[in-house]
Amino acid sequence: MLSAFTVCPGLFYATPARDGMLSRIRIPGGIVNSQQWRAIADIAAISGGGYADVTNRANLQIREIYTKIDANLLRHLQDLGLGSSNIGVDHIRNIMSSPTAGIDSQELIDTRPLVQGWDKYIAAHPHLSGLPAKFSVCFDGGGAVRVCDRPNDIGFAAVIVDGSIYFRLHLSVGAKGEGPMDMGILLQPEECLPVLAALADVYLSCLDTTSTRKPRLRELLNGLGCENYLQEVERCLPFPLRYVGSQEYQTQIPTAKYRHIGVHPQRQSGLSYIGVVLPLGRLETSQIRGLADLAQRYGSGTIRLTPWQNLLISDIPHQQVPDVQREIESLGLHWSVGNIRSALVACSGNTGCAASATDTKGHARGLAEYLDGVKLNQPINIHLTGCEKSCAQHTKSDIALLGVGVGYHVYVGDGDCHQKFGREIYQEVTFVELPPLIERMLTVYKIHRLTVDESFGEFANRHAIAQLKQLMGSRE
Ligand code: SF4
Repeated sequence: MLSAFTVCPGLFYATPARDGMLSRIRIPGGIVNSQQWRAIADIAAISGGGYADVTNRANLQIREIYTKIDANLLRHLQDLGLGSSNIGVDHIRNIMSSPTAGIDSQELIDTRPLVQGWDKYIAAHPHLSGLPAKFSVCFDGGGAVRVCDRPNDIGFAAVIVDGSIYFRLHLSVGAKGEGPMDMGILLQPEECLPVLAALADVYLSCLDTTSTRKPRLRELLNGLGCENYLQEVERCLPFPLRYVGSQEYQTQIPTAKYRHIGVHPQRQSGLSYIGVVLPLGRLETSQIRGLADLAQRYGSGTIRLTPWQNLLISDIPHQQVPDVQREIESLGLHWSVGNIRSALVACSGNTGCAASATDTKGHARGLAEYLDGVKLNQPINIHLTGCEKSCAQHTKSDIALLGVGVGYHVYVGDGDCHQKFGREIYQEVTFVELPPLIERMLTVYKIHRLTVDESFGEFANRHAIAQLKQLMGSRE
């Protein structure tokens, strides 16, 4: 039933990893209720290593599975809506949306109906099981917490044009690692799903049936050309595509990273959501159950996973926020943007992945402990990756640490499009050298930033590498 080309894990078919089998639960839009959340704790405790990891697509991963997951348990999860009713499409990547959809006081449109609509459409159309696992889709409602810059094959980003709300269509094209490109097409909200269905059908119709490899949409577009592809898409639609060219339509809010951490008022009067920091995206089963209780007791029972590997508890009455903050802390978690763990990201590392040059997760934990006393007033995104593949984070970070045999190459800021991790500043830094070096880099940033709002990345981008090295000193 499953595609022969499936290489990514799903709920119904775990894949091998260094630390046992790995199962991934798709959570469309990242939104779960407390009953589902408790069921996830059960499966992690019964079948896995006693914890769950939030991924960079707001999925959940259960690791260290050594015995087959019981079929009754899988059916129970399916009944709770935690697995697709159609197993054949369970491999398709999680549908991404802003974790604040429907509660964001600044969003243009609530994208949850689009997420649910596409999820149902996939389940109801078995031929879509032919899509590759990496066929990824994102809906951005144009609010304060943006996801339209996340790497996806297809993106819909809300804008206002002449007082009406449209979505701009973005497609992944060009070199690997380049962001999705605006196609210069405006879609009314109700046009998005028919267009998405047509994009998927045309992709499938273009596949080489003699090949066992399914290309990424980007590769197909690079060969076919966007214009030709979109002409085919238009032929499948009962309405014409609305081409408007490259004209910029400003959404209301500039993108700011990790804006969701901490306490924020919702669009619903009197209610707040709290962005919770999960150290390296990981939750022990006791924490999962504790958060389910919290969400149910103080809020609507809703938990929202984010593509930044943490989560939000929503619908908390303002006056109860301090109680919830206290309880989050009592679970051993955090809610402050100033916590060094708020934007610390690491891939599985060499305990879970054979390709990793280093113990990224262990080193990230050690780094966080060392930097615990550093006071920050905004998150610093530090990304540790065990190899160039960069599974945990595909976008640039403030500081990137690429594992190499002896330690890490250190990169800062954006760099150009050929510099996947930003600009290299130090090479082969051992883990013993790393924590004091990063501490020094943060201290220099805090002294020399233009304003408290300047991010580490912006600060680094303003300086030549030689200047930064002069300020930060040598490695020793
Ligand atoms: S980034 Fe590399 S080392 Fe890390 S999990 Fe992915 S493949 Fe493994």
